[in-house]
Formats: sequence, structure tokens, C-alpha cells
Amino acid sequence: MRRPRKSLLLFVFAIGSLSLAQELDQARRIQAGVLGIDGHNDTAQRVLIEHVDLAQRLPDGMLDLPRLREGGVHAPFFALWVPTYYHGSEAVRRTLDLRDAMQGVFDRYPDQIELATSARDIERIVGEKKIAAILTIEGGHQIDNDLAVLRMYRRMGILSMTLTHFRYNDWADSSTSPPMHNGLTEFGKQVVREMNAIGMIVDVSHVSDKTFYDAIAVSTKPVIASHSSCRTLSDIPRNMTDDMLRALAKNGGVVGVNFGAAFLNIDDAEELKRAVASSTAEVNLTGPALDAYAAKEQIEGGSIHPKVGHASVDDAAACVDHIIKVAGIDHVGIGSDFDGIGTVPKGLEDVSKMPNLTAALLKRGYTEADIQKIMGGNFLRVIREVVGQ
Ligand SMILES: [Zn+2]
Repeated sequence: MRRPRKSLLLFVFAIGSLSLAQELDQARRIQAGVLGIDGHNDTAQRVLIEHVDLAQRLPDGMLDLPRLREGGVHAPFFALWVPTYYHGSEAVRRTLDLRDAMQGVFDRYPDQIELATSARDIERIVGEKKIAAILTIEGGHQIDNDLAVLRMYRRMGILSMTLTHFRYNDWADSSTSPPMHNGLTEFGKQVVREMNAIGMIVDVSHVSDKTFYDAIAVSTKPVIASHSSCRTLSDIPRNMTDDMLRALAKNGGVVGVNFGAAFLNIDDAEELKRAVASSTAEVNLTGPALDAYAAKEQIEGGSIHPKVGHASVDDAAACVDHIIKVAGIDHVGIGSDFDGIGTVPKGLEDVSKMPNLTAALLKRGYTEADIQKIMGGNFLRVIREVVGQ
């Protein structure tokens, strides 16, 4: 066979890159029009510990106000995450410190970001071209076994809570520590009922499989898995099995796809093991010494200067695709975990890169209406159902 002439090869290459550029343009246009909700980020840690100025485009990390706008993510869930080595009232104190740090951002930039405490709030704030901040708690240990603390968090504008973090607590088992309670204890079930009653979303990311099924059985409202991915594609305990995806769909809930490389590609799983080991370490400190330990962990954790893993933006699109095939188009969302993951996928290095995912979904044949649901419509529906207007 004769070799193709060089000019022909150049022509084919030019057509290919032209369509790629057009695809990305189309993705940017669609992304600019969606109401983008991201179910999880850990940027509040940076605000509290490093005092970063979110109004600036930061040279490191994965998320700030300029990059949220660029990525078309208008309503991010900011996690008030407290490591499980904070026990009892120390965990409550740390939660208040994080809540206060985020309040500082809202007070400093009222023209750019505002706390959203309902679905209607989200729509209004985004309509005013501002970022609608949704606050969430990451770990049931943060209520110190006290429903009054839970109720007061809700009154402080916190809209959801993951029942555990990496380690079991006094009333729920986690996916990354040995089972202690066979799922939820009686008090754990009471926590779920109380969250239903006060309009707070139950988040089942991080919990053990048995805790997941117990929570689904008890909850009368849709639950979310704010930042988990597909166990079929990356077999780690933090991800959802197909059976769990089907159960979540039946409950009316949503799973937000986690962008951590480990969550998307098993070749990156080492990162998660390291994160679990450091976060569940027992630390015998209190007060400022404990906070200094947490600050050191944050700086050394890797999310400020992330590595790029084996995973790519197409692995994230494959996980979205898989959830839709198993659970349906109404039960998938985005839960990036930006600023909480040490290894990122190629093409999704920070929140400004979201149009790359939209382009990958377009390539898989999804329509603009599908992409609106994936990028935020589904999460907004659950917020409206659980929290109210
Ligand atoms: Zn998490």
C-alpha cells in the first residue's frame, strides 16, 4: 500500500483538532448555561488553616471564586470537615471554627458569594451572578452524640451531613474502618429521623454498606452520596456497588461522582489508603496543639499541590455513564472532592476544567438537557424535596 501523502495527513489532523476545539466551545457554552452544583469540596480547610483569599485566583489548590465561575460551578457544597481524631466537644468546637471561617468569606465578599439555605435561595443567588455556598458537615462525630447540636447546626444554615468520615463513630459504621455496630445503632436511626424532620439531607458517602442500607430503610426522604463513584470501575470501599446505586435510585437520591483519581481508576488506589491511615490515626491532643497537628496534616496531605494520576477526565465520564445505565439519568451528579484529593485526573485538575467533562459527555451522546441534570439539576431537586423551598 502506498503511504498517504504528507499534505493529506496534515489535512486529517487539522479537521480532527478543529472538531475538538468546536466540541470544547460547545461544552463551554452549555456549561455556562447550567446551574452547576458540586456536592463536595474541602476548601473550607484552606480558608481556616491557610487563610487563603478565595476571591483571588490562587496559584495552588483546586478551587476559588474565579475558577468556580470559569468552570460553571455556581453552587458548591463547602464541607465543614473535622478529622475523626477530634473527639467529643473538640469536634463541635472545630466545626464552629470552620463555620466562622466561611462566614468571614461571606461577610468580606457579599457581592460575590452568599450562604444558600434553600433551593429558592440557590436559584436567586445564582440569578444575581453570585456563588451560592451550601454548607455541609462531614462526619457524624461532629454532633457529639447530641441531637440538640445537630439542630443548632441546621439553624446555622448547614444543609447536610455525612453520617461518618473514614472511621466509625458511636452510632454508625464507616466503609474504611472495622464494623462496630453492624450499620446504624438505634441512636443512629434516630439521627436519620431527626435529619428528615428538620430538613437536613442525609449523606451516605463514607459509610459502610450496611450503614447505607440501614439509612435508606429508615429515611423517608431522598439521601445523597455527595462524593462517591462506581465500585464496578474502581473497586474501593468508598465507591458504590451497582446494587447500592439501584437502591439509591429507588429512594430518589443522587450520587455525586468523586474526581479523586483513586475513585475513578484502581491504578491510583494507593492515595486513598494513605489518606485513610493519616486521618484515622489516634492523636492524644486537645486545643491549640490538636489544631496545630491538623494544620500539619493539611499542609502535608497533598491536595494543595496535587499529583496527576493514571485516571483521566474520560474515567469520570465513564463513571457518570455507568451510574446512568444502572440507576437512571435522574440520580447522578458531580461531587468533585476538590481540595480534598491528593491525586487528580488528567483534564480535571481543578474546578475551572469542568467543561472538559461536559465535552466528554457530549462525545458519549448526552444531550444538553441530560447535562443540565448531571451538572446540578438532580442535586437541586433533592435539595428542594428535603430542605424545602
Ligand atoms: Zn470525604
